[in-house]
Amino acid sequence: MSSTQSGTDGAPVVRMRGIVKRFGDTAVLDGIDLDVARGEVVTLIGPSGAGKSTLLRCINGLERVSEGSIEVGGQPLRYDEKHLNQLRARIGMVFQAFNLFPHMTVRDNIAVAQRDVLGRSRGDAAQRAQDLLERVGLAHKIDAYPDSLSGGQQQRVAIARALAMDPTVMLFDEPTSALDPELVGEVLGVMRDLASEGMTMVVVTHEMRFARQAADRVVLLADGGIAEQGPPAQVLQRPTSERGRAFLRELE
Ligand code: ADP
Ligand code: MG
Repeated sequence: MSSTQSGTDGAPVVRMRGIVKRFGDTAVLDGIDLDVARGEVVTLIGPSGAGKSTLLRCINGLERVSEGSIEVGGQPLRYDEKHLNQLRARIGMVFQAFNLFPHMTVRDNIAVAQRDVLGRSRGDAAQRAQDLLERVGLAHKIDAYPDSLSGGQQQRVAIARALAMDPTVMLFDEPTSALDPELVGEVLGVMRDLASEGMTMVVVTHEMRFARQAADRVVLLADGGIAEQGPPAQVLQRPTSERGRAFLRELE
């Protein structure tokens, strides 16, 4: 849990104003204002199809907004290739699917973008891979190939790979949804550690225990808008909106 819950120390890492995202005639996001402060952990919840993934994809420019403005690290998001590449180098993204390169060792999975995008030397990139693998409890797997790892281990490597780029913010889109239940805890544990170390994170998840234990703020997305937001204890236990109460009933 961060010490910046008020979000008052400096400019927000992510600032979204009046975000509208349409697919055809349908506004999936319909006027979203959202700030994420440095060190803040925001958990994004809501029913399937609410636009949670779309919102994350707008932050790293994988989706282009129809209206509104986004700033990341104080820089307005621009959609030319040069700026998108610079933006994505600063944003760590972890998806439901592990997306590791199957033909590379764990070390090379973590090192390749450090060398190609950040220009780090082979030795520096490998050392950083080693350090991050220790952090996620997988130093002994540095020479392994992804298909020899469990889903939980692969996802921890994917997190290490994202961290290797020294991101200003980490985006997680249902990182444990594809895992067997017994493997969920190890991934949430790594994410909780990151949160407590002060990483700025936006996490889409159905894991309410993560939201309760690690989030500074829970944001409930429904019907294209933010139906409710606040500290986990408020949103998850005493929702004030009808949408919030309905969502919680469905979880039970
Ligand atoms: P969530 O992650 O909350 O389940 P999504 O952001 O994936 O929701 O999707 C929100 C809505 O937008 C859904 O109705 C989905 O079908 C639609 N949608 C998402 N991506 C596209 C796309 N590329 N083209 C058309 N519709 C899309
Ligand atoms: Mg989704």
